[in-house]
Amino acid sequence: MTSRIRRWVETDTGHRVPNHKSKCRHMHGHRYRWEAELDGDVVTQRGVSDEGMLMDFSDISDILNKHIHDIVDHAFIVYEGDHEAIGALSMMNDEHRTLVVPFIPTAENLAKWAYEQVRPHIESSYGNKLRLHAFHVRETPKSWATWSTES
Ligand SMILES: [Zn+2]
Repeated sequence: MTSRIRRWVETDTGHRVPNHKSKCRHMHGHRYRWEAELDGDVVTQRGVSDEGMLMDFSDISDILNKHIHDIVDHAFIVYEGDHEAIGALSMMNDEHRTLVVPFIPTAENLAKWAYEQVRPHIESSYGNKLRLHAFHVRETPKSWATWSTES
């Protein structure tokens, strides 16, 4: 038996899907929700700060802010092979926040990217089998993608 918890952060982020058959090839943005899902055992050590938890929600929030929010909020995510968009973004000054990635920035690929951003930072000193189980990315209220390393 394991417990699972989720915590999310939101960002305003631009992207485009360069080969898309319709409007997704235009430069546009979303209010993305980046949601980490952890599993493991509840900490049973008496008297510790995390007793009764998998991991403190505020600690997860700090990780999401540092490794997701502060990188992609008010930023444009662009595929390294999208030469038209790279060219347009290169005309912006150095303060423009651009994230170049080696994949087309669909929700599916961003869920995998976010998982890999966050996973190394999910750790516990309580031996409670804490893991990042999955990462969910909401692109629109009707559209979610999930990356998980297991079924
Ligand atoms: Zn989009």
